[in-house]
Amino acid sequence: MDYFALKDGVLHAEDVPLWRIAEEVGTPVYVYSRATLERHARVFNEALKPIERKLIAFAVKSNPNLAVLKIMQREGFGADVVSGGELVRALAAGIAPEMIVFSGVGKTRSELELGLEKGIGQFNIESREEGRELAELAEARGIRAPACLRINPDVDAGTHEKISTGKAENKFGIPLMRAREVYAELAQLEGLDLRGVAVHIGSQLGDLEPLETAFAKLGKLIADLRAAGHAITHVDLGGGLGVPYKAGEVFPSPAEYGAMVSRATRDWDVHLTFEPGRVIAGNAGVLLTRVVRVKRGGNGPPFVIVDAAMNDLARPALYGAWHDFVAVKPTGEYMTANIVGPICETGDTFARDRHCDALQSGDLAVFRTAGAYGATMASSYNSRGFVAEVLVDGDRFAVVADRIAAQAIMDAERVPEWLE
Ligand SMILES: *Cc1c(COP(=O)(O)O)cnc(C)c1O
Repeated sequence: MDYFALKDGVLHAEDVPLWRIAEEVGTPVYVYSRATLERHARVFNEALKPIERKLIAFAVKSNPNLAVLKIMQREGFGADVVSGGELVRALAAGIAPEMIVFSGVGKTRSELELGLEKGIGQFNIESREEGRELAELAEARGIRAPACLRINPDVDAGTHEKISTGKAENKFGIPLMRAREVYAELAQLEGLDLRGVAVHIGSQLGDLEPLETAFAKLGKLIADLRAAGHAITHVDLGGGLGVPYKAGEVFPSPAEYGAMVSRATRDWDVHLTFEPGRVIAGNAGVLLTRVVRVKRGGNGPPFVIVDAAMNDLARPALYGAWHDFVAVKPTGEYMTANIVGPICETGDTFARDRHCDALQSGDLAVFRTAGAYGATMASSYNSRGFVAEVLVDGDRFAVVADRIAAQAIMDAERVPEWLE
């Protein structure tokens, strides 16, 4: 459920008509709803209520905007970060270091140092090599780094191949087969407080079964590790819950997820960490765009050319992803169109043969479900500058990320004098 709806025939974000944001801030622009973010955070929290010892760490990569992180902090969430840049953002939003989990296969030495210096709550180690390096850095500081070992359970998450992370051929985690051996080696290191295991099998999961399978494998591993004398006190279950991108699609609810987790982890007796991203932010944002013009197609439907492009919202070009596309002031008439951006690539196509609201040059429309993996994946390709972001709260709104003009990006470049 979200707070983007028609009121008197005009699409609103909460109580703000979207045309007002377009007029004041320009387009394209991402628009987030505070009420929706809070609602999703509370529903997720509620679903996990029976689990007493836990941390819910918002996956910062899904939407790293500072204002969004601030909302998460106020809801009692920690942060799951995958880079030094995200770590700095989480801290800037006021998230306590103890509530920050650092994941990712390629943490550099300086990123590991940063995490140690800031005293973050947990490193999820993805390789023996990383574990040794972290231990060495921590020891040099006379501390022990709190850590979990990320396991690759070799489970097919049944999602898009580019966002599957728990298959044997993926780069993430330690293969289950080698987990006992690597765990035993790392557990001996003075600089590590190795206290458990972590999994994250992929994103946009439409089915709980792969998760349950992964958790079952993890449960077996926990028992084996305990039998080998390791004190397993912490387990990180990752994120991955999917959201509907098409009106009418049904996904497992946070409540169903919570019930499955309770069942799967019933006798683990551990502190659990959760890393939801998309399920919190996905439906809490839209990308507001204006139709530049409508061009007659060759043999096919007309091209509705909008002022947003693949550099602003990459998911359709990257994953062939679907985003519902609706008019801000629908007339009740419909058309079938190819929805495209202005970028000079055929990949800059948001939808083909899409049945949608009838639109004309100058009309406003939105791509829905753009709150996660939207603005954060933006680039300045075709020298288009970076898209702005707005947060709505009831009948007010604020620009929470300025549009970065193409000129500002060019200002950071220079021609060496030997080329002048
Ligand atoms: C991306 C990611 C998440 C969040 O995934 P969602 O599908 O957005 O919930 C959580 N944990 C890790 C390690 C990730 O890489």
